[in-house]
Amino acid sequence: MTAVGVLALQGGFEAHLHALARAGAQARDVRRVGHLAALDALVMPGGESTTLLNLMADEPWFDAIRAFHARGGSLFGTCAGAILLAREVRRPSQPSLGLLDVAAERNAYGRQVDSFETLLEAPALGGLVPGVFIRAPRLTDLGRSIEVLASRDGEPVLVRDGRVWAATFHPELTNDPRIHRAFVESVSRVRAA
Ligand code: GLN
Repeated sequence: MTAVGVLALQGGFEAHLHALARAGAQARDVRRVGHLAALDALVMPGGESTTLLNLMADEPWFDAIRAFHARGGSLFGTCAGAILLAREVRRPSQPSLGLLDVAAERNAYGRQVDSFETLLEAPALGGLVPGVFIRAPRLTDLGRSIEVLASRDGEPVLVRDGRVWAATFHPELTNDPRIHRAFVESVSRVRAA
């Protein structure tokens, strides 16, 4: 069975655990660096990326996640998690893992539209999928290797570069299982290869 961990230091990890289990993965919460060893994939949830960075300073999380990726692990960052994966973070700038060749602009939709739910164009996932945006970032300056899996008004909101996926929204907060299912299927394929 494909083992997918969810970084459980802060933020919305419970809903991801449910969504992953429903998608057929063995879902586990990840609270210590050592928990990564037994996983095929790691989901980095939404929350507050600066708070997450502070909590991640307690253990060598950056080194461990980069090593996890280098040894073939898959990653999926949603919202704050996507910000942590980016090559570069803007407004304001802050450290990031640099595992996804995009720039992430934090809180890009302004205060007026703090959170909203909308339908996204996702032809790769079979049509329109719902997405919940909460103080969401915007992904810009996409590298050539980035594949856009879903967009909103022409802007990329779900992207992937091989084993690394990122969503600027919260797929775990809707009842639509397609995004978690597609991720778990891709992890299973990597595992079988
Ligand atoms: N605005 C948050 C940040 O910049 C992300 C919000 C979220 O994860 N829902 O880290």
